[in-house]
Amino acid sequence: MAKNDYKQEAWLLTDLFPAIDAPEIQEALDNSEEKVQQFESWRDRLSPDLSQAEFLELIQAYESLIRDWSRLLGFAGLSYASDTQDQGVQAVQARFRQVAANADNRTLFFKLWWKELDDGAASQLMSGAGDYRYWLEALRLERPYTLSEPEERIINIKDVNGSQAMMTLYSTITNRYNFTLEVDGEEQELTREELSVYYRHPDSNIRAAAYQELYRVYGQDTPVLGQIYQTLVRDWRSENVDLRGYKTPIAVRNLYNDIPDDVVDLLLDVTQANAPIFQRYFKLKARWLGMEKMRRYDIYAPVVATERRYDFSDAVDLVLTSYERFDPHIARLAERVFAEHHLDGEVRKGKQGGAFCATISPDLTPWVLQSYTGKPDDVATLAHELGHAVHSMLAEDHTALTQNASLPLAETASTFGEMLVIDRLLADDPDPEMQRDLLFREMDDNYATIMRQAYFAFFEREAHDRVMKGATIDDLSELYSQNLTSQFGDSIELSDDFAIEWMAIPHIYSVPFYVYAYAFGQLLVLSLYQQYLEEGDGFRARYLALLSAGGSDAPARILERAGIDIHSADFWQGGFDVMHASLERLEALEVPE
Ligand SMILES: [Zn+2]
Repeated sequence: MAKNDYKQEAWLLTDLFPAIDAPEIQEALDNSEEKVQQFESWRDRLSPDLSQAEFLELIQAYESLIRDWSRLLGFAGLSYASDTQDQGVQAVQARFRQVAANADNRTLFFKLWWKELDDGAASQLMSGAGDYRYWLEALRLERPYTLSEPEERIINIKDVNGSQAMMTLYSTITNRYNFTLEVDGEEQELTREELSVYYRHPDSNIRAAAYQELYRVYGQDTPVLGQIYQTLVRDWRSENVDLRGYKTPIAVRNLYNDIPDDVVDLLLDVTQANAPIFQRYFKLKARWLGMEKMRRYDIYAPVVATERRYDFSDAVDLVLTSYERFDPHIARLAERVFAEHHLDGEVRKGKQGGAFCATISPDLTPWVLQSYTGKPDDVATLAHELGHAVHSMLAEDHTALTQNASLPLAETASTFGEMLVIDRLLADDPDPEMQRDLLFREMDDNYATIMRQAYFAFFEREAHDRVMKGATIDDLSELYSQNLTSQFGDSIELSDDFAIEWMAIPHIYSVPFYVYAYAFGQLLVLSLYQQYLEEGDGFRARYLALLSAGGSDAPARILERAGIDIHSADFWQGGFDVMHASLERLEALEVPE
């Protein structure tokens, strides 16, 4: 492969629209309004007796609307990410959102009708729906747990002033918090976001002070925040288990993710059995930090970073050739992102922070944003985001409703691509400092994505049970302390302040049991990577088939077709074997005195 000459530049959005004030935008809005009106005319024609051809026409009309809206909202969103200070863009984005919500409301009748349709008619219509089949099937998953229309209406109305109001209250209270921290002899007023930067500060006193301040502030509202959680948990159970008939509180989320209950249990069990890997890692990290034993405050402490920097074009080369070694077709797809100027790698003021890949529609090459500064970390991020793009492009033969992988599979190509590049760097670059940084990065990421999230899920499972048996707020904090002890063993010095950490995790309030999906996705990729290392070329076709499926089928079925048995403990253990190997590589490095 010849060396590329791709530039570190801002992206072009002209494949979407010429400009934010272009007449094409008004045309698109008018066009969409017309389509919505046409779609509304289906309302009176909906019937179980629709022919397959009519039904297909109906879904295609719906998809066409989704594509239009994705284009408009995508353009506004990407324009905003380019320059978050542009007030014109902000106004346009707000307007688009409003019109889109309105269109959504006016077309909602179709989904409601579809969910309520009896099984016989639905399977008849689905059998002729081609690639739309799984999307239609997924919409109906909740049907066995759906109540009568008047009951559903009552729940909706009561939720607004019940669980939703509780959640709003939680956000309102916690978003108002101010944190004070002394840094370099100066008192600073910080938001939680800003405070959290100091968990990674090189000075151990500052790290401790940051966490202590976090829990000092949250601790003042313990009775209120704890009560909100208890209320949400009771409501979750009485609605979902008592009224709707789900077997357990976590089964609600499993159905939503379309992952079988026993697979989630297995994933969590295997994770728990592997907690000692990270306990060993924390003991090793303590030595690198020159500490006898790390405190909980020190988990994200930095191990001194390498000075090594990569030019943008070298980074692109590294990623493309790593992809090429795995499979040339993947490299060609990644190149398309550069060739079409869909990657914004520039560092500039006002640009959105972080990195992402946006898939707008199957007929458009995805867009990638990153502020590239040349650190080894940035090279890994570039590989990660391009992996997302490749995943979408491999699935571009699907419809707009079935192209995107569902949550548990969404990080597959990205993390896998990142690992290809990291392994390449570890193999080819003899710089020990860079090796060390990459391995620490990998372990820290895996800890935060897998072990930490799985232990949140353990807490949730137990807490949902205990609250129903009358657990007090102190009982829950006690439960959380035990959870931490079993997670860290004797590898970490735990202080009492962390007993209320659960009150500071918005996910467990707003989206119960959401957290395990992170662990699922990350472990899945690590296990796949292990299979790749063992099988080499034999693995590739199966893996590409998995990616090409996009979101066109249930995660379990896509994985099964790729020869992966998520019901097997060995499969999940494979992911931990990869981490174990990284840990041993780190342990082999000499710790500085
Ligand atoms: Zn990602």
